[in-house]
Amino acid sequence: GAPPDSDLVDEAIQDAYDRSVDTDDGKVADYIPILAKVDPELFGISVVENDGSKHGVGDVDHAFTIQSISKAFVWALACEELGPEKLLEVIGVNNTGLAFDSVMAIELNDGHPMNPMANAGALASTALIPGKTADDQWERILDGFSRFAGRQLEVDADVYESESAHNQRNQGIAHLLESYGRIDSDPLEVVDIYTKQCSLLVTATDLAVMGATLAHGGVNPVTGVQVVSDEVCHDTLAVLAASGLYQKSGEWLFNIGLPGKSGVTGGIMTVAPGKGGIATFSPRLDNAGNSIRGQRATAYLSRRLGLDLFASS
Ligand code: GLU
Repeated sequence: GAPPDSDLVDEAIQDAYDRSVDTDDGKVADYIPILAKVDPELFGISVVENDGSKHGVGDVDHAFTIQSISKAFVWALACEELGPEKLLEVIGVNNTGLAFDSVMAIELNDGHPMNPMANAGALASTALIPGKTADDQWERILDGFSRFAGRQLEVDADVYESESAHNQRNQGIAHLLESYGRIDSDPLEVVDIYTKQCSLLVTATDLAVMGATLAHGGVNPVTGVQVVSDEVCHDTLAVLAASGLYQKSGEWLFNIGLPGKSGVTGGIMTVAPGKGGIATFSPRLDNAGNSIRGQRATAYLSRRLGLDLFASS
């Protein structure tokens, strides 16, 4: 259908906010002490349309670390560089149904990571980013993310440091992937780049712009810059539809009918192909790691704005 009228979007996000702000279910991520300090009441909803118009309510300018949502963009950048066949071969595009940091998922599939939106597949995606050195790879990721957002992004040094001191499990996953030939550079360097990409600071507005870029054939609707190809957007959105909300990706698709990606700091980026990006930020999470208010607000918006890809009308 046609994109929704701009005033309707403003009204809809205000209603989505009002209907979701009451719940204080769930709890904030506390796997590192610094994240546990976040104000759990923060809540923002941002929508960026494919014509570049921005809508926001609540804490849309509050910066938080992107965490798992980075997996979508590293996969897209790797796909742009290497093409989908390579990523299908090395990583795959299936949901494992297991937790984001599962080691069993690797073991059950003879070392094939399967899911690029869980840590094993995400580490393998990061390893595929071209570059002579780890620094070159990182620069390419930082530059690509900044073009998706339309502004220069920066790492939260404190979160990066704290994550680096507590990422033994990801180090283990990377070593296991190396043993199966799924990573061919230094696994600890791969984990370090991955930890940096997770520590990039974004706002809900940034995430909505990034999502709108995926909704708009890879052209950032605010800057006009082509970041990735149309085909890469298609492929990335298909991956998100299968696996964007951890082991609750099926329920998300059932309720919301759009590709999305969540992260443990409470962001959810959702993409309405051909229309725009939606981002919510609220730190309280369900047991899979998905923001509770974010899911509620996005479900409301999908219905109210007629965005569900599976609806006949
Ligand atoms: N830094 C986290 C990790 O990989 C990100 C997890 C997430 O957002 O799912 O352990």
